[in-house]
Amino acid sequence: MIIDAHTHHLTASGITSVEPANFDPQPGRLYSVGIHPWHTHDVGDDTLQLLEQYAQHPQVVAIGETGMDTLRGAPLQRQAQVFEKHLQLAQKLNKPVIIHCVRTTQQIVALCRHHGVTVPCAIHGMRSNERVAKPLIDAGLYLSFGPRFNPATVLSTPRDRILIETDDCDTTILEVATLLSPTLGLAPADILALAGNNLHHFLTATN
Ligand SMILES: [Zn+2]
Repeated sequence: MIIDAHTHHLTASGITSVEPANFDPQPGRLYSVGIHPWHTHDVGDDTLQLLEQYAQHPQVVAIGETGMDTLRGAPLQRQAQVFEKHLQLAQKLNKPVIIHCVRTTQQIVALCRHHGVTVPCAIHGMRSNERVAKPLIDAGLYLSFGPRFNPATVLSTPRDRILIETDDCDTTILEVATLLSPTLGLAPADILALAGNNLHHFLTATN
């Protein structure tokens, strides 16, 4: 079962996130392709064309990671433009979006609304508190949790919108489930099942 919503490692149990230039599909693996907000400085038409081309590949099941980050990357206005390209592409191809969001919650929600995004969207690496999470939850987004998370935020997230991930750390997805176990009051195996089921819905929900 595919459980890990976002990883930068190549694994059979997750969605491997790569930049368009690094997309090299291996048999039986699933990918998301996107331009990370940290890498938005010198994004040209060639990169955007590659993104559009690879986004259509059958092993690319989601668009991202994309998003906005006030601490790193190009000026926010440029990050927003690149993010909007991803949203338009996801909507056109009917594929969900994996979003990197650092201190840009309002902008992310506003841009999703502005573009009438109906494909599922997930904020990955969610560590923020409940106050930050609330508008994201209210907007219908999924939240993806890794080894570092705010327990109150996990508890405030509807159970059917909880995803789990390893991102770029060496932690296994079972270790992430084990870390979440006391907060959710569920056995790690049950968290893996819940997250796998939610990820399946995230990937197969249609417009
Ligand atoms: Zn990542």
